[in-house]
Amino acid sequence: MAMTAESARPAAAARTYHFGAGPAMLPPEVIAEIRAELPQFRGSGVSILELGHRSPEFRALMRETESDLRELMTIPSDYAVLFLQGGATLQFAMAPLNLGGRGAYLVTGQWSAKAWHEAERVAEGQAVWNGSADGYTRVPTQHEWQVPGGARYLHYTVNETIAGVEFHSAPACGAVPLVADMTSMILSRPVTVSGHALVYASAQKNLGIAGITVVILNPAALHTPPRGTPALLDYRVSLEAESLPHTPPVFAWYVLGRMLKWTRAQGGVAAMAAHNQRKAELLYAVLDASDFYINRVDKASRSWMNVPFRLRDPQLEAAFLQDAAAAGLKNLAGHRSSGGMRASIYNAMPESGVATLAEFMRDFERRHG
Ligand code: PMP
Repeated sequence: MAMTAESARPAAAARTYHFGAGPAMLPPEVIAEIRAELPQFRGSGVSILELGHRSPEFRALMRETESDLRELMTIPSDYAVLFLQGGATLQFAMAPLNLGGRGAYLVTGQWSAKAWHEAERVAEGQAVWNGSADGYTRVPTQHEWQVPGGARYLHYTVNETIAGVEFHSAPACGAVPLVADMTSMILSRPVTVSGHALVYASAQKNLGIAGITVVILNPAALHTPPRGTPALLDYRVSLEAESLPHTPPVFAWYVLGRMLKWTRAQGGVAAMAAHNQRKAELLYAVLDASDFYINRVDKASRSWMNVPFRLRDPQLEAAFLQDAAAAGLKNLAGHRSSGGMRASIYNAMPESGVATLAEFMRDFERRHG
């Protein structure tokens, strides 16, 4: 076999770690379970890829998924849980359409900016704090913003997946309903669902694979959407149909169910929080140890899930990514809008993966610093 540049590099590590931001790494145990169960779903006579959404087996799966999520997140019993399609992006529109229109937005990164712009498209949205001028390096303090009179809700993005900026406590907005995009941090640590009117998260980070979106809402907060709103964008239609207003993504739902079982088996959300904090600290310690690596996010706003960083010498970034991939550390390139690097270290990323990356970074610095 001819010697290629690829084969000339050091042999690939025995284990590879996937640091992509989403679709993200799944726990190997979950993949093994899916594989084992794939040919036939729980005595139904068909595989999960073929299972009908009106079948008793799928009904049982739905019940189990909802009750596991309720338990893991301590969801109040008077709140509804919906499983929808269209990703978190569709929630950017559904929130304003169903909550009375005028939303106030804390803009702490690219995703909250998108949510705000979508609100402007379908209703009215106002940014009450915007960190874009600073390049999104922190969340605001409580006294830096106010909810304007007439605002129907306050929206925030708990964790900004691209900027690596995270709220470590929910903003306080009094009686105004609070709306949270939890896409890239759901189940990573405990949150107080009861303090929110609406919470949403698409699944392809901590909840499995793309195609299904969890929506948790207080039905009392809903307003009638404007005339012309399509039925699928009216939460009440999905509430009445118990999340089945049309054919659901059965397989994604099943994977979500497996992820919830896995999260429970790890000890639940409090155990995940301890695990995630340890992992994040390993990486930030490397970033803080020298100026070879740069992360500009304020310490108090640092994300536990997505750690973006650059090299002081941008010329070295391509070599960093290439060497990392050869060492089994995959998909570390930053978002296409920001470049640089980003390590996404969601629940499924083991501490060994982060420790291997931290050691690789120290070694790369020794060789190139
Ligand atoms: N919000 C956040 C915080 C995200 O990270 C993403 C996707 N990365 C989205 C919203 C959009 O999600 P989706 O692609 O599922 O619509």
